Amino acid sequence: PFEVLVVGGGPAGASAAIYTARKGFSTGVAAERFGGQVQDTMGIENFISVPYTEGPKLAAALEAHVGEYDIDVMNLQRAEKLIPAREVGGYHEVVFANGASLKARSLVISTGARWRNLGVPGEAEYQTKGVAYCPHCDGPLFKGKRVAVIGGGNSGVEAAIDLANIVGHVTLIEFDSKLRADQVLVDKLKSMKNVVILTSAQTTEVEGDGEKVNALVYKDRETGQEHKIELEGVFVQIGLVPNTEWLKDSGLELTGRGEIVIDEKAATNLPGIFAAGDVTTVPYKQIIIAMGEGSKAALSAFDYLIRNEAP
Ligand code: FAD
Repeated sequence: PFEVLVVGGGPAGASAAIYTARKGFSTGVAAERFGGQVQDTMGIENFISVPYTEGPKLAAALEAHVGEYDIDVMNLQRAEKLIPAREVGGYHEVVFANGASLKARSLVISTGARWRNLGVPGEAEYQTKGVAYCPHCDGPLFKGKRVAVIGGGNSGVEAAIDLANIVGHVTLIEFDSKLRADQVLVDKLKSMKNVVILTSAQTTEVEGDGEKVNALVYKDRETGQEHKIELEGVFVQIGLVPNTEWLKDSGLELTGRGEIVIDEKAATNLPGIFAAGDVTTVPYKQIIIAMGEGSKAALSAFDYLIRNEAP
């Protein structure tokens, strides 16, 4: 058994593991894929103090930094079930897909999230070649260009406002007959001169020249007619899904959208179980935030362990 088991090996998990190992606690990290979403990222320009890096490079750096410590890294391990300790200070158990299980007195859950995909032809093919999911990350790459934002909820409308200040032109595309974002955001978007809003519009394909995106096709759901928009970028904003399916029925409190509810110290509703990064209710999902949250969760785990002896 470990004193601290970190489940998830993205920026949040790597940071948590380093912090608890530095406190002298026996620490394990179990991850389905070490590096997490960072592995799927091309250019990263907002990891402060590093003007430019690339996902696989940052993932390798995370692994190297974790490797500096006596941390037991268990890659390619998918957690399937959490069995919380029955008493404060006791052992929590995590059961993995291969049937093995690990125990620890404190857990940091950092299983991250995934962007919901449109699932239309061209989307996967042109990912990082014009199809993007994070306006804070990739917006500046489209300076002066034409983009579409898919999704008229708060995140889509916020993204469109953000991008309209950077890019040449924004088309916001909403499937429903009206936008679902807060009125103050909708009003702001409508006041912007380089924005067109399309409702009842179903995106059916992302087109490109083999190298880069050059158009988007949508169907007008009222007339059934298809239209093509020429553009250079498509931002998909139809939801970020937390990887918490494995925590259902564990007693851990989740929001309606599946995020783990944490307080300002990264504590969950269960004693000794902390959570960090994109999997939680923390606002703004970014690498630098996930790392900060991971270290916070680790320090809270440290605090918990020194206050609660094993029963
Ligand atoms: P994740 O990175 O999602 O890591 C989750 C970890 O948990 C992984 O190791 C995963 O394999 C593991 N896991 C999941 N489920 C299980 C399970 N059941 N059992 C065991 N392990 C599990 N942010 C920026 O700041 N700048 C950028 O430029 C940027 N660009 C991005 C580009 C793309 C294409 C994407 C997808 C994201 C981008 N982001 C960017 C967002 C950033 O990657 C995330 O905010 C960050 O990775 C979150 O870290 P995390 O550790 O919370 O979760």
